Amino acid sequence: IMTTSSLTFQPVLDRIAAEIEKTPERGRPADYIPALAACDPRRFGMAVAEPDGTVYGVGDWRQPFSAQSITKVFTLALDLAREGDALWEHVGREPSGNPFNSLVQLEYENGIPRNPFINAGALVVTDRLQTQTGDAAETLLAFLRAESGNDELTINERVAASESAHGDRNAALGHFMASYGNIGNPVPVLLNQYFRQCSVEASCADLALATGFLARHGIRADGTRLLSSSQSKQVNAIMLTCGTYDAAGDFAYRVGLPGKSGVGGGIIAVVPGHCTLCVWSPGLDERGNSVSGVAALDRFTTLTGLSVF
Ligand code: GLU
Repeated sequence: IMTTSSLTFQPVLDRIAAEIEKTPERGRPADYIPALAACDPRRFGMAVAEPDGTVYGVGDWRQPFSAQSITKVFTLALDLAREGDALWEHVGREPSGNPFNSLVQLEYENGIPRNPFINAGALVVTDRLQTQTGDAAETLLAFLRAESGNDELTINERVAASESAHGDRNAALGHFMASYGNIGNPVPVLLNQYFRQCSVEASCADLALATGFLARHGIRADGTRLLSSSQSKQVNAIMLTCGTYDAAGDFAYRVGLPGKSGVGGGIIAVVPGHCTLCVWSPGLDERGNSVSGVAALDRFTTLTGLSVF
């Protein structure tokens, strides 16, 4: 167990990477679009960022990958920063227990999605951020670049086009919620923003740094405030309860940290006050979370004793 914050994270990361390397079962990459299906499930990277911006990493930690649903954390924070609690009239805060792209719950709850991290809820958040800013995806990109210090962070337009070509389910969610008056922009405009948001490419180092405001109780990398410390707590709580699809209970049990995964195989996680993490390995389990990513975070909290519990 590590007890002082001055201890470096590097030996822990090296040990975890060596263990993962020996693991035969690595899951299968997402196959709903060709761009993700082509990823090698044996790739693995992990980064830890301290609140002052010091970052440690191992393996493919500087390799950009498709951030996908990880971006839902940032759009949520960016919208909350602008409109505050008014957002909660349009999206709930309860775990769904349904798959991330489920339609059924919306019919029973008047087009109000369960939480901001299932697709329906993320579409509402992006719609509202679009109304607030005029360009939700560019607002997201500018934020990620500023927080990571990486101006090369970009949207993969080929992935965005592929998302759009295979986007019937998200289109259905958008139109269905619009029929309840819960979408403010034309649905095609919203979908374009959402698909571009999903297609952000960033590395473990970038995303660990960009998540830092959630370890700093709402403070951005430049010292300005994005969220109040209550709002930062709230986003962390939603990550803990809703951040890993319908496996959030198991993730909390194994890892014990607020986390958010994406179908690109990335997972971000927060130890409030201490550090942020991002791990990437494209092989997923049957619920859509990175097999090696969850295993690595599980080992991290076990080896360091750092968790919210
Ligand atoms: N582009 C994917 C979708 O909206 C993202 C899914 C995810 O990462 O959970 O279907």
